[in-house]
Amino acid sequence: MKNIKYADLHNHTTASDGIFTPNELVRHASTKGLAAIGITDHDTTDGIYEAQKAGKNYGIEIIPGIELNTQEDKFEIHLLGYFMDYNLPWFQDILTKIRDSRYYRAQKIVNNLVNIYGMDLEFEDIIHKAGGRHNIGRTHIARAMIDKGIVKSIPEAFEKFIGEGCKAYVKRYKLTVPEGINMIKKAGGVPVLAHPGLISDDSIIERLISYGILGIEAYHSKHTYQQSQKYVELAEANGLIITGGSDCHGDSSPMVGDIVINYESVNELRRIAKLS
Ligand SMILES: [Zn+2]
Ligand SMILES: [Zn+2]
Repeated sequence: MKNIKYADLHNHTTASDGIFTPNELVRHASTKGLAAIGITDHDTTDGIYEAQKAGKNYGIEIIPGIELNTQEDKFEIHLLGYFMDYNLPWFQDILTKIRDSRYYRAQKIVNNLVNIYGMDLEFEDIIHKAGGRHNIGRTHIARAMIDKGIVKSIPEAFEKFIGEGCKAYVKRYKLTVPEGINMIKKAGGVPVLAHPGLISDDSIIERLISYGILGIEAYHSKHTYQQSQKYVELAEANGLIITGGSDCHGDSSPMVGDIVINYESVNELRRIAKLS
């Protein structure tokens, strides 16, 4: 059993809404004995370089990845991409467009929170929460709300104030699922459906498969055992790669390495990426 290698293929860093810098994340991963970790920040690949440098130090392989929030009807569908040639200028241009839209959307949400609820929040607080970076998401707003004692947790902030359907919510530019899949494939990467258990309706998963995803994240920190089993079967029935990851953001649980997958999945992702 000792020489089985494991990977955690879903992690966030300070390049998006994670708490750990890429270096800190890799250092934590090294204490878990992982062979590889995926860096899958939202809409940015900026954390990959630092992670790869740290990976050399700590003896961990870094799998370049991304997480894109796409839209299918009323559902937000998260797509993971692995092994893209992410430095392609057109690829980075699309990410910049998405991040700009996040940034201006965050400004509007904060305005709404102030104007509708009279909350004591300033956009500067949110930028501070994002470490001065401009890759701002609603998680950063939620963390600033926790600091001010407005809510107690990130889920509470989303349920009451900033989630879809809430008064302060603002839509932003999003790719459709086929657009996201094509973007990852065109850059030579492998598109994987992230945490299908968090989509409230299983019946659309077959449709997402028909769009050309090549893998399913069957193992995820928010999946029940039964869900994981179901998605493993679905992946096997459709000839898709099975992946897994903790979705570590560093706040509390889950921690990097809490959900792992056999390293064989990394080999499969790499093999498929080479074919495209
Ligand atoms: Zn996600
Ligand atoms: Zn994630």
